[in-house]
Amino acid sequence: MEIRDWDAVVVGGGAAGLSAAQMLGRARRRTLVIDAGAPRNRSAAHMHGVLGHDGLDPAELLARGRSEVAAYGVAVETGAVAAVDDLGDRLRLTRADGTVDTARAVVLAAGVVDELPAVAGLAERWGRDVLHCPYCHGYEVAGSRLGVIATSPASVHQIELVRQWSDDVTAFTAAAQPLDPTVSARLAARGIRVVDAPVSALEVSEDRLAAVVTADGGRHEVDAVFTAPAPRMELGFADSLALARNADMPGAPLVADMTGATSHPRVWAAGNIVQPFGNVPLSMGSGSMAGAGANAALVAEDAAQAVSARRAERNAGWEQRYAESDRFWSGRVNATTAAVVADLAPGAVLEIGCGEGADAVWLAEHGWTVTAVDVSETAVARGAAAAAARGLAIDFRAVDAVGELPEGEFDLVVSSFLHSWETDFPRIGILHSALDRVAPGGRMLAVSHAAPPPWARELPAHMPPMLTPAEELALLGADPEVWEVERAELVARVTTDPDGNPAHLDDGVLLLRRRS
Ligand SMILES: Cc1cc2nc3c(=O)[nH]c(=O)nc-3n(C[C@H](O)[C@H](O)[C@H](O)COP(=O)(O)OP(=O)(O)OC[C@H]3O[C@@H](n4cnc5c(N)ncnc54)[C@H](O)[C@@H]3O)c2cc1C
Repeated sequence: MEIRDWDAVVVGGGAAGLSAAQMLGRARRRTLVIDAGAPRNRSAAHMHGVLGHDGLDPAELLARGRSEVAAYGVAVETGAVAAVDDLGDRLRLTRADGTVDTARAVVLAAGVVDELPAVAGLAERWGRDVLHCPYCHGYEVAGSRLGVIATSPASVHQIELVRQWSDDVTAFTAAAQPLDPTVSARLAARGIRVVDAPVSALEVSEDRLAAVVTADGGRHEVDAVFTAPAPRMELGFADSLALARNADMPGAPLVADMTGATSHPRVWAAGNIVQPFGNVPLSMGSGSMAGAGANAALVAEDAAQAVSARRAERNAGWEQRYAESDRFWSGRVNATTAAVVADLAPGAVLEIGCGEGADAVWLAEHGWTVTAVDVSETAVARGAAAAAARGLAIDFRAVDAVGELPEGEFDLVVSSFLHSWETDFPRIGILHSALDRVAPGGRMLAVSHAAPPPWARELPAHMPPMLTPAEELALLGADPEVWEVERAELVARVTTDPDGNPAHLDDGVLLLRRRS
């Protein structure tokens, strides 16, 4: 069976899910909506309180939503997601019919199921003249005989609210008893009749609600009733993700922040699954935020992947350079580095960008305990061979100095001519990491090319600028409370130019000491 891979899959195609899909589609994300086709308000013929769509059939809103998201390339398919599993860089969604999709991000917008009170005849009238929200449907029944069937003590709020829409209200309070005396006083003062006998059935006549029948044989004529069903989250399909739930709220909705982010880094949530009492506009708003939130995370992931791909490309360039010849560097210690280090008492040293190990070997021969790193495996292997040939124990490691420097504290962290012809080589970032590895009282030494060779006149345009130690010090921003600048100067190194004439090079020497 074909497994399709998406940027995002939205579970649930109601107001929240389609709004999330709209944002994702407009953000040009490959998006799939999987919808089981049972939106919460499907039993209502008209929708209210939805600006710009007042009185619209809820099914029509979703039909419009589907065609709008389709215009942005979003696929909408009918189905029920039965399992979501974490594959690390993807989530796998398996439907009840066995269809499997994978996605980098998932938006859960599966809504809630209303647990209606167990009253004979009530479920059949749900969404018609058995209502839940006076803001959604109160205006249409305003002034008529209204009942409120309490489902818990919290229903007192609904009873008092409904009074705003009619002065003929009967409250069926069996599930809310005992009423607090102050509540009873308020209901009485507002002319609300209180019936505390349990409700046993609804009486319907000519397809209209006629009366509420109570267990004591009472018959109470009404035109419509309100009741607050318990919201049930059917989230078993996402159990393996162990998403955080808000246990204090009815239905234990998912915990999500303003952008819909849940406790799982690849999962967002929106609509009633997060706010069980939210209406259509709220669900659309949270869906919209969740779609944008998921896209923002994908944007960040795309950038991180591009950075690591670029890093791998840069590193491969070094490896290729070393691999192209038997030996790349002279095999002699860098004279400027040796001259500076000769004045320091030996201890533990970390060398960053050790190349073929000439400096590391020199350091070990001068009493230092050396850890030497370079990004090229070939270079490091040559260094290790050179050390072995001299009977020196040096800890050579092939690691990227960007983010992979060995942990620990060193008396000296040294880098000699750690340059690159790549403009995005993060030299200053690496020197920052170098500072982090310096023990109290220890030093960071950066020896650098501070200017192009005199015969080169100017650098090729694609090369990063060569900075003086003072300029690099400013970029490093080393806290003077922590770092003492022992040297930040240019040192002339005598050499010969390509024609064999005497010349000199400007080496930069930056030596910082961490105060104890
Ligand atoms: C009777 C009634 C009338 C209402 N009237 C109004 C009104 O007039 N105005 C108003 O603003 N609000 C009204 N509401 C509230 C409104 O219905 C909700 O706020 C809104 O539907 C929530 O949107 P949602 O996208 O979170 O969930 P839903 O609209 O419930 O959509 C969830 C979707 O996810 C699907 N789904 C669930 N599980 C899965 C799965 N595992 N795999 C795939 N799909 C799945 C469901 O089948 C459903 O299609 C009413 C509610 C009720 C009960």
